[in-house]
Amino acid sequence: MTNPLLAPWEGPFELPPFDAIRDADFAPAFDAGLAEARAAVAAIADSAEIPSFANVIEALEQAEATLDRVAGVFYNLAGADSTDAREALMRDLAPKMSAFSSEITNNKALFAKIEALWQGRESLGLTAEQARVLELYRQMFVRSGALLEGAEAERLTAVKSRLAVLGTEFSQNILAEERTWFMELAEEDLEGLPDFAIAAARAAGAEKGVVGPVITTSRSLIVPFLQFSPRRALREKAYEAWVARGANGNDHDNRAIAAEILKLREERAHLLGYASFADFKLEPEMAKTPAAVRDLLLRVWAPARAKAEADAKVLEAMLHADGIAGPLEPWDWRYYSEKRRKAEHDLDEAALKPYLGLEAMIAACFDCANRLFGLEFRALDVPMYHPDARAWEVTRQGQHIAVFIGDYFARGSKRSGAWCSAMRSQKRLGRDVRPIVVNICNFAKGDPALLSYDDARTLFHEFGHALHQMLSDVTYGFISGTSVARDFVELPSQLYEHWLEVPEVLEAHAKHWQTGEAMPADMLRRLLDAGTYDQGFATVEFVASAMVDLAFHEGAAPADPMQKQAEVLAELGMPHAIRMRHATPHFAHVFSGDGYSSGYYSYMWSEVMDADAFAAFEETGDAFDPETAARLERFILSAGGSRPPEDLYLEFRGRMPGVEALLKGRGLLDAA
Ligand SMILES: [Zn+2]
Repeated sequence: MTNPLLAPWEGPFELPPFDAIRDADFAPAFDAGLAEARAAVAAIADSAEIPSFANVIEALEQAEATLDRVAGVFYNLAGADSTDAREALMRDLAPKMSAFSSEITNNKALFAKIEALWQGRESLGLTAEQARVLELYRQMFVRSGALLEGAEAERLTAVKSRLAVLGTEFSQNILAEERTWFMELAEEDLEGLPDFAIAAARAAGAEKGVVGPVITTSRSLIVPFLQFSPRRALREKAYEAWVARGANGNDHDNRAIAAEILKLREERAHLLGYASFADFKLEPEMAKTPAAVRDLLLRVWAPARAKAEADAKVLEAMLHADGIAGPLEPWDWRYYSEKRRKAEHDLDEAALKPYLGLEAMIAACFDCANRLFGLEFRALDVPMYHPDARAWEVTRQGQHIAVFIGDYFARGSKRSGAWCSAMRSQKRLGRDVRPIVVNICNFAKGDPALLSYDDARTLFHEFGHALHQMLSDVTYGFISGTSVARDFVELPSQLYEHWLEVPEVLEAHAKHWQTGEAMPADMLRRLLDAGTYDQGFATVEFVASAMVDLAFHEGAAPADPMQKQAEVLAELGMPHAIRMRHATPHFAHVFSGDGYSSGYYSYMWSEVMDADAFAAFEETGDAFDPETAARLERFILSAGGSRPPEDLYLEFRGRMPGVEALLKGRGLLDAA
């Protein structure tokens, strides 16, 4: 019997034949794909031909054709609709796939060819896109240590593997701390808590094997408790336990681990020839240098701190009005802020939801894409991997652009969160390949399905990523769609969220699902105003964490990270009642792996850019200005990683991003 993953896909749009694929087909298809890729890579590396862009880079681009096709289907299914068999295969594949990618970057003969092309690049007659692809391939090899020999190469391998062990230990210690600590509540301690928080506290109690409700340090339990509980002593106790995770002097203390990680990262950067780990990490990013990151964070810091200090005064007056003397403390902020929010911006979620039907919000999403980019969407009747997954053909002026799959409802077999992936990426090498793009969400199923405003925002966010994939127009898959720098990849998605805030979009689409009436004007205004609430606090706690992350990875590694953290915060002038969003001993973004180490800033970086990019539309007086939309498509949405992100942004905007639009969007400008 033929394996449907390996046979040609001859159905509509060459979609994977979901109705024919069985779980048992994946493992042999991966084996075939890996064998094919290994043979192709060996043939490239061992070829006696003079290296050329075609016989090295283009050949590498095609080496994983089968593997890409199988992996595209499998990883989507494993995330969106998992089974025990798929889980088991994921575990089997992880070491196999990582061994395969190390094999490639450790292949000296292959790297020698890439290096020869790089050294002779001026005379190869490359297009701009080809030159960029060559540069990125070489960078990938060099950053993995391809230039190192002998003892240095061995040391790099040892450092990397020790870092992997320490990262895992760091995460496991946080988990252990979160599992052990809990605070039992008496029935009267539930005073003020909303129903959902009470239910969660009772469920947590049952899980811990105690009779009554408990609070743990899980964010979903402790944050509502800090927001709603009038019992100040309990808030203090819970808060102090929350911020002490990983620093309790027990077996799960992360402070020494953090110090060792920082030291090893510094060594890794030095081995690879970088001045510091931050220089190493930021090289492929849009930010490029630690100085650029610091500059951006500090420009946001001053107005955010001013706003937070002004808010602290208001909240402290509320504390005093409750008959409590002394300063506002960190365990008071969320409680008084919630009271103030209720008074100033209260929104009745239950009344709002009937206006935000899933079908209406999908229509809003598609309508914006139509007005901006001329895209049209037609529902398809094709086999899918799950009954809840739906497919559309995306066209423009009759021309096929992509297949878009939306899989919106939560279910037990789906990972939490929301994401966008390409089951097949756009490229032109060999033949013109149009993408299959998937948006996965976890909305509550209902009849009809009604969204919260946050859900609607998520829908727009993921669709922004989808546009980046669908409108991609490049030759090489290596730089297609969302294959861009980490601090650039959230630009299209966060930017697209702004169209949900354009009043005419909700006016046109947010209709009551039963009566068909438009959302009342007062509700719409409150909804749109709520976005700026308490942003001084949110910005301060974020920027403080990002500044500490950056300071850790610049220059010599600190022997005592806790002391370094204290110094950075003192220098910033951290407000008394706000602490870091994540303190060092439980700062998983930075220490559980490499992903966001000296990269925590990138959330803020992207936000600065999306606010600034949307301002380009606002400045024309038309949120759907066709000329600006055309530039957005040409220089950002279609360009993938074909040019450095800063060049793309500069072309789109005519200048680099400024922070003003972000400060305005967060309501921080008047405080500046
Ligand atoms: Zn995103």
